[in-house]
Amino acid sequence: MSKSIIVIGGGAIGLCCAYYLVRAGHRVTVLERGGPHHDCCSLGNAGMVVPSHFEPLAAPGMVGYGMRMMLRKNGPFGFKPSLNADLVRWGWLFARSSTAANVERGSRLLRDLNMASRTLYQEMAEASDDAFGLEECGLVMLCATQKGFDAESKLADHARSLDLKVRVLDRGEVEDLEPTTRLKAAGAVHFLDDCHLNPVALVHWLQEETKRLGVEHVFSSAVTGAKVENGKVKALQTSTGDVAADEYVLAAGAWSGQLAKRLGFRMPMQGGKGYSSDLPVSVPPKHCFILVEARIAVTPIGDRLRFAGTMEIVGDDLSVNLRKHQGILNSIPSYMPDFAPEDFSELGVWSGLRPCSADGLPYLGRPSHLSNLIVATGHSMMGVSMAPVSGKLVANLVGEEKLEFEIGVLKPDRFS
Ligand SMILES: Cc1cc2nc3c(=O)[nH]c(=O)nc-3n(C[C@H](O)[C@H](O)[C@H](O)COP(=O)(O)OP(=O)(O)OC[C@H]3O[C@@H](n4cnc5c(N)ncnc54)[C@H](O)[C@@H]3O)c2cc1C
Repeated sequence: MSKSIIVIGGGAIGLCCAYYLVRAGHRVTVLERGGPHHDCCSLGNAGMVVPSHFEPLAAPGMVGYGMRMMLRKNGPFGFKPSLNADLVRWGWLFARSSTAANVERGSRLLRDLNMASRTLYQEMAEASDDAFGLEECGLVMLCATQKGFDAESKLADHARSLDLKVRVLDRGEVEDLEPTTRLKAAGAVHFLDDCHLNPVALVHWLQEETKRLGVEHVFSSAVTGAKVENGKVKALQTSTGDVAADEYVLAAGAWSGQLAKRLGFRMPMQGGKGYSSDLPVSVPPKHCFILVEARIAVTPIGDRLRFAGTMEIVGDDLSVNLRKHQGILNSIPSYMPDFAPEDFSELGVWSGLRPCSADGLPYLGRPSHLSNLIVATGHSMMGVSMAPVSGKLVANLVGEEKLEFEIGVLKPDRFS
């Protein structure tokens, strides 16, 4: 049965929801508070599709590691100290979730969702005549230190036990990997199932394709609240008036936690701020990389190399911390000696907020008390990677179809 659906948020997640919903025969409207050329986290990210990221962010040792890194003013992690109750509760829940049981519970599901997304991206690339430059040559985790290499090799063993394809490379094999870009490392792990794409081209294609399929895009319309009656959303209140539909999808990225509160449930969310800069290069490398100890992602996008990194837990503060960004730049030559921090001095710095849940798992599904709302958010550092599968699952939920995956652990009100 064809339903009217309003999707809140025009980032990669909201657009993928719209894409699969309209293809399933529904009448879809996307409400976006920004204009047609608005910025969002889905644009300046590193564009990696990452079955390799099967361990949730909330894992044993993560809290201690994050604390140590935070003491380094230009380190890759940060936390804006505040007595804000949402931040304090999020931090407490994150610490409580950083257990082996959380990793065990999440790993297979994250692998499956990322692998399913990979397949859906292959289909989209074919349907779009490769509109967003999907490259299927894996992700190389470059380790500057033996300690980093040992830890990454352990992760490779875990990945193999989950049937992911992995190669461990020694120093010489790393040096031979790219014909035109010099690489320096104690060793590397090559996750062969991973891919990369151009995130700006992806968002642009999704906007155009959904429009072509009949989705209505309403820009400059911010959802401010909702009328809820008898366990149903009756209407959304927006900056441009009230709007109503049969079903609603909450996909407003890092701001979804605030909207959840207005819809009557708690969904702890923090923005995990990251930065990126694009460096023009004459011959880009073929692979995408993560510079492991520095936590920097490097992605070839056309004739540029995108360097992206830092994770500062900041609520919704998008200001640029230049010291943190300089930390990214200073680490690059230890892995890629062809590049120096000065190469970036004339380049702009983009900042974006990853929607971070309190246990590193997305919020996906229906909250218990609202029968016509579906949530799709909280993907943290994997929102591009998991956008297609999230969109498809949302369409399956609307159609009351059997789901390919058991997603009970992703329930959006699991912390209520
Ligand atoms: C530096 C960096 C590198 C990253 N690299 C990768 C990567 O390699 N691979 C990967 O998978 N992920 C990566 N990510 C994470 C990824 O970018 C995010 O997970 C993803 O973009 C989140 O998408 P989204 O649609 O949920 O949120 P967004 O892209 O933020 O979109 C949410 C939209 O909702 C709108 N909105 C908010 N509130 C309202 C409201 N009240 N009413 C109407 N509209 C509203 C916003 O304007 C926005 O357009 C990276 C992130 C960063 C910062």
